[in-house]
Amino acid sequence: MNYCDKYNQKTLVLSHFDIIMSQRYNLIKCSCGFSFGSTKSKNNFCTKCGSVSNLKYVKSFENAEELSKAISLANIPDEISQELISKILKKESRSSIAKENNNNVLGGLNLLKKATDKDGNLTKKSLDKILFDEALVDSSSEFLIGQAEVQGFLIRVNENTWNWLS
Ligand SMILES: [Zn+2]
Repeated sequence: MNYCDKYNQKTLVLSHFDIIMSQRYNLIKCSCGFSFGSTKSKNNFCTKCGSVSNLKYVKSFENAEELSKAISLANIPDEISQELISKILKKESRSSIAKENNNNVLGGLNLLKKATDKDGNLTKKSLDKILFDEALVDSSSEFLIGQAEVQGFLIRVNENTWNWLS
C-alpha cells in the first residue's frame, strides 16, 4: 500500500516534469503574411488579423528567446534581414552580461504586468507612464522590456507592442 502510494506520487511528478519539458515554442505563419509564436499546438489565432484558419506551422524552437528571434526575422522584409541578423549575432556576444541582470527583471515584471492593457498588449508608452507614476524615472522601459523578452516572458508582436507568452 505504502509502496503504491509512493510509486504513484513519483509517476505524477515525473509526468508533470515531462509536460514542462515537452513544451515547444512554435513559429506559425498566417496566410496574411504575419508570423507569430505560440506554445500551443492547436487553437491558435493570428495576432495580427485574428484568423484561426490558414495558419501554417513553420518550426519549433527550444526556448522563447530563439522563437522571439525567429518571429522578428520572419516579419521583416528580406532586404534588411541580413543586416539584422548580423546585429543580433553581435548582441548575442553580450548575452552573458544580460544574464547577470536577471534579478532586476523579476522586480520589473510587476511593472510590466501593470503596463499591460486588458487585451494583453504591452507598449513602451504604457510602461513609460507606469515608471513615471511610480517615480521610477531611473528605470528604462527599453531595458525592462528587452530583459523580459530575453527571459521569454514577452514576445514582440509589432514595432511598439509586446504580448505575454502563454
Ligand atoms: Zn493573419
